[in-house]
Amino acid sequence: MFDIIIVGAGFAGAVLAERLATQKNKRILIIDKRQHIGGNCYDCVDEHGVLIHKYGPHLFHTDNKSVFDYLSQFTQWRPYQHEVLAFIDGQKVPVPFNLNSLHSLLPKSLADSLELKLIDKFGYGVKVPILELRNEEDKELKFLADFIYEKIFVNYTAKQWGKKPEDISPEVTGRVPVHISRDNRYFQDKYQAIPSQGYTKVFDKMLDHPNISLLLNTDFKDVCNVNFQTGVIQFMESDFKGHLIFTGLIDELFNSQFGELPYRSLAFQFDHLAVDQFQEKTTINYPNDYDFTRITEFKHISQQVISGTSIVKEIPQDFERDNPEKNIPYYPIFTEENKKKLERYQDFASQFDNITLAGRLAENRYYDMDDIVARALQVFDDKFSQL
Ligand code: FAD
Ligand code: UDP
Repeated sequence: MFDIIIVGAGFAGAVLAERLATQKNKRILIIDKRQHIGGNCYDCVDEHGVLIHKYGPHLFHTDNKSVFDYLSQFTQWRPYQHEVLAFIDGQKVPVPFNLNSLHSLLPKSLADSLELKLIDKFGYGVKVPILELRNEEDKELKFLADFIYEKIFVNYTAKQWGKKPEDISPEVTGRVPVHISRDNRYFQDKYQAIPSQGYTKVFDKMLDHPNISLLLNTDFKDVCNVNFQTGVIQFMESDFKGHLIFTGLIDELFNSQFGELPYRSLAFQFDHLAVDQFQEKTTINYPNDYDFTRITEFKHISQQVISGTSIVKEIPQDFERDNPEKNIPYYPIFTEENKKKLERYQDFASQFDNITLAGRLAENRYYDMDDIVARALQVFDDKFSQL
């Protein structure tokens, strides 16, 4: 019936399904345990008419023209430049921390002197990861690095990861570097835009093909079985001779045989308020106050002209596989110990020619949307273009 089974209807699964169906005429079955397509990028209209992002705010940004062109087949775009403020010492200042944040938080003479030092040392427009800035020996720059570390990073990271910034991969805090500029945007990518009808509609269009079937609300383990001794895959208790593309948790696929990998989960607290605007920018981070990390107001993203507004607070929590309130693994946790475990899974996976692992969870990488689209297109070229 099917040539390829894909587990997961997020960007990894959807891009591969679209390519294999349209370019190779393959018959695809996509299985997802959720009731909808789109993975974590899923958006929907809430009961008040506001287009919300069910799994946290998703802002598309990329420097990769081929990814932007590929997705543009399925959507038109509305230009959107994301800005974030952080609530620090009773003020809301731009994050990533930049020269405007510096001048808002520190006395003028000190801020002027630090600005000159930063530009002199690194150059205007340069981005410096906080963990790198902390290695500075100059007394004033060291003071600034410690100030930013304390006010922006240490408590937010403790909430988000349950760890100190230096105990997770530098790639993570490096996503939000100190920016020696007056540019208040969160990203500087060339293409920044929101799909004009939302993300779910992009997935609808990608998967609207006679060769693509969907089996939603179904856990892969309930309908498939893989014998890792023989490599035989069974679907609905019959042998399946085709290929399995898996975009879920790599450790779960292999029955956690080398131990469980750790993940971080989130609780989302949605609210609807009878005001037209709740906050001045899409997202406000609260590094040092409250249990949540940030509040996002969706109307800034959807640009809907509608009364009332919907917001979401993100409350990080431990991931617990058997607890329905905590069993979505939003973030792989990146530590040295986990890296070794992951390598064992990856080595083991490489012996199965009929299984491909792709996606944020299957590859255990901090992929943004553009990264995963690029990755899925690359997997298609490398592995399936000769079919
Ligand atoms: P997912 O979207 O997670 O899809 C995997 C799918 O597999 C899921 O639908 C899941 O239900 C399904 N699945 C897993 N296991 C099974 C199983 N056993 N059986 C059946 N189905 C299964 N990126 C950006 O570029 N910009 C942003 O602003 C942004 N914000 C984000 C905010 C948050 C809170 C999070 C968590 C991520 C954010 N991202 C953002 C990243 C973005 O969500 C990912 O890049 C993208 O979703 C990865 O796609 P994927 O297909 O790999 O995984
Ligand atoms: N971060 C922080 N304070 C902030 C914003 C980010 O400490 O105000 C750190 C934190 O460790 C976070 C990481 O930088 O997990 C990456 O932030 P980003 O906004 O990219 O996270 P995401 O949107 O992926 O959750």
